[in-house]
Amino acid sequence: MTWNSKRAWIEIDRAALHHNIALLCSLLPEGCELMPAIKANAYGHGSIEIARECRQMGINAFCVASIQEGIELREHGIGGEILVLGYTSPWQFPYLHKYRLTQTVLDHTYGKALDSCGYPLKVHIKIDTGMHRLGEPWDAQETIISMFEYKNLLIEGIFTHICSDAASEEQGQRFYRVISVLRDQSYPIPALHLLSSYGLLAHPELGGDFARIGIALYGVLSRKADMEHYPIDLRPILSLKAKVAQVRELQPGESAGYDLQFTAKRHSKIAVLSIGYADGLPRSLSCGVGSVMVHGNKVPIAGLICMDQTLADVTDVPEVLPGDTAVLIGTSGVQEISACDLAEQSGTISNEILSRLGERLERFVV
Ligand SMILES: *Cc1c(COP(=O)(O)O)cnc(C)c1O
Repeated sequence: MTWNSKRAWIEIDRAALHHNIALLCSLLPEGCELMPAIKANAYGHGSIEIARECRQMGINAFCVASIQEGIELREHGIGGEILVLGYTSPWQFPYLHKYRLTQTVLDHTYGKALDSCGYPLKVHIKIDTGMHRLGEPWDAQETIISMFEYKNLLIEGIFTHICSDAASEEQGQRFYRVISVLRDQSYPIPALHLLSSYGLLAHPELGGDFARIGIALYGVLSRKADMEHYPIDLRPILSLKAKVAQVRELQPGESAGYDLQFTAKRHSKIAVLSIGYADGLPRSLSCGVGSVMVHGNKVPIAGLICMDQTLADVTDVPEVLPGDTAVLIGTSGVQEISACDLAEQSGTISNEILSRLGERLERFVV
């Protein structure tokens, strides 16, 4: 839909995205390719928009969480390899074939079910090297070897996921032990991958043929402190903006919002912003915990954030008018609010803030 309501929206900075892709590519180990993680609507950024930009930058492989996400990309004409990282129901197996998607083999039982579908399917085998989430356990070597005897499955990759910085070295050793057993048995070794954003930054020596990069591609890390710990020039690509619908004046002692949680201590101006928690703005930022920016000023959120609306105390920015734009993530003049700031204020990580940005927000590449 090209119709643009400009109620609340996301702007994606194309130049910053291209910068991040080039920067991350320069950090990759020898022979390793970027496989952007564009699950959860590309961490809220818009998976179609992000995939198109990546394709233009020559990227040939993506990973997503679900088959539905993969189908959506194909239906919008996205080519290249698309790896489904998570569970796909057996009734959907034909669609893996139809949409040329690559399925993760979650463990040997799941592999058997996939193999029995009766037609060739592209797969990557997942090895659990200690996270105890998905994957065949690394030490089940006989079982892993038996997985290379499937009739219908084209094994194009084998991978693991690193769950903590402290465990990464051991997880890497376990992963490569599996690979050397396969090599000793003369099985052809497919593409290997184990690095995600933090793996690439902290342990590029773990190598591999692909690096599944999510959060860093979007120009942020999970926590603000990590941005200082890894001083590389990542640039946030997302801005979150909303229109000022109305500006109200409150006399001292008057209150506003649900449960009248905001009370004016002075003659006050309140801007009503067209964005709420249903758009992904955490309700825990209510009552001054979080801020927004207007005309280059940072102002506090007033009272309780509503489902579709948020109040901001703009008393100190008297020029604010209905139709003005407020910035919730991004920059305004010299001020900046990052996804990491929202994460810190609401007790989570930037990944959650971004990936929960709602369907109702329109997304523009600028
Ligand atoms: C989400 C995900 C990634 C990307 O992780 P980031 O930390 O965002 O780079 C990589 N691998 C798997 C299996 C994932 O689920």
